[in-house]
Amino acid sequence: MTLPGQPQLHLRDQSLYLEDVPLAPLAREHGTPLFVYSEGAMLAALASYQRGFEGRDALICYAMKANANLAILKLFVNAGCGLDIVSGGELERALAAGAPPERIIFSGVGKTRAEMTRALEIGIGCFNVESEAELDVLSTVATGLGRTASVSIRVNPDVDAQTHPYISTGLKGNKFGIAHDRALDVYRHAASLPGLKVVGIDCHIGSQITQLSPYLDAMDRVLDLVNAIEDAGIPLHHIDFGGGLGIDYKGDTPPEAATLWQQLFAKLDARGYGDRRIVIEPGRSLVGNAGVCLTEVLYLKPGEAKNFAIVDAAMNDLPRPAMYEAFHQIVPLEARDGRTAATYDVVGPVCESGDWLGRDRLLDVEPGDVLAVLSAGAYCMSMASNYNSRPRAAEILVSGNAARVVRRRETIEDQLRAEQDLSQA
Ligand SMILES: *Cc1c(COP(=O)(O)O)cnc(C)c1O
Repeated sequence: MTLPGQPQLHLRDQSLYLEDVPLAPLAREHGTPLFVYSEGAMLAALASYQRGFEGRDALICYAMKANANLAILKLFVNAGCGLDIVSGGELERALAAGAPPERIIFSGVGKTRAEMTRALEIGIGCFNVESEAELDVLSTVATGLGRTASVSIRVNPDVDAQTHPYISTGLKGNKFGIAHDRALDVYRHAASLPGLKVVGIDCHIGSQITQLSPYLDAMDRVLDLVNAIEDAGIPLHHIDFGGGLGIDYKGDTPPEAATLWQQLFAKLDARGYGDRRIVIEPGRSLVGNAGVCLTEVLYLKPGEAKNFAIVDAAMNDLPRPAMYEAFHQIVPLEARDGRTAATYDVVGPVCESGDWLGRDRLLDVEPGDVLAVLSAGAYCMSMASNYNSRPRAAEILVSGNAARVVRRRETIEDQLRAEQDLSQA
């Protein structure tokens, strides 16, 4: 049996496996909460994009903010991907993972001068610039270093990605990108600045997009701009179409990456841009359904209005439900017979009512049982915090029947190291 959305997760003799690794022994050996990722699932997700790009000039830059573990970055870099970064910290991680600088692109609305300097010094491929003010600062920083910054401007195509408002980024009211009707002027300005070389155009309309139409609409809007910008004498070497493709959390049916790109290339071909270099920045769709988070049931707390299953993972480990009311499937690692099944809110130990992982879930569990929170490969560990002084979880990467620790569990010493008790100063 295969579980929805998670190609490498399956039940064998009533026990949950990721690839050929049974999960219950892993939880016993390494403790919980524990993130476990499938290398095979990540490579399969990448392969779908690669199929879509066959015979085309394309670069897949993994948006590493989805999951920035070094082992995962290396997996994608070794498979030929570039990386999409959004901070100086991510730049250092990208370099540590061995990413060739020319395959690194730097996105984000608030790059500092220090981040620009470092990125220019190591020779990154492209800055995705998000405002006119940023263009001016980047030009000044580049000129000061005697370098030229390759830029692509993030335009806001003003299409509705039909996703959660917090992860929709392509509408007029968003902080991201340059408004469609300002784009040509901003391109002219960029082309006039001494420290910049305009190389492309960029857009990213949102995240967890499960329909084709927002992408097709955005592509039309972007190509209209490409046309106008090139007519103004500014050639664009590449089109960066961002990320945002959704995954199956709860019966969601996003298009496959290969299908999406087949349709987008049909449009590109029809409009005469089929041989243009295409860059994309997928995050969630490469890693989201490759990972689970294992958590032990600590207490069952029956109540008049609600039953609670209190588990040892919390909003600091899995922030998506608290942040976006996001849904993650929650399943036991080893099934019971169902006779003591009840409906629970699955909640963590953190002192916040927002600390829940799932609501109204039918589960047959007892304290000591281990649950798997599914689709936890993206925007979970990378958003994890030390709130309530909770150590961040360990991470395991599974391949075939091999399971390797790719991040050890944090210790309290890790947390205290940067702090200073003034009585000893
Ligand atoms: C977050 C982000 C991505 C990746 O989005 P996913 O939904 O994870 O694919 C790509 N590009 C930019 C600019 C982003 O901010």
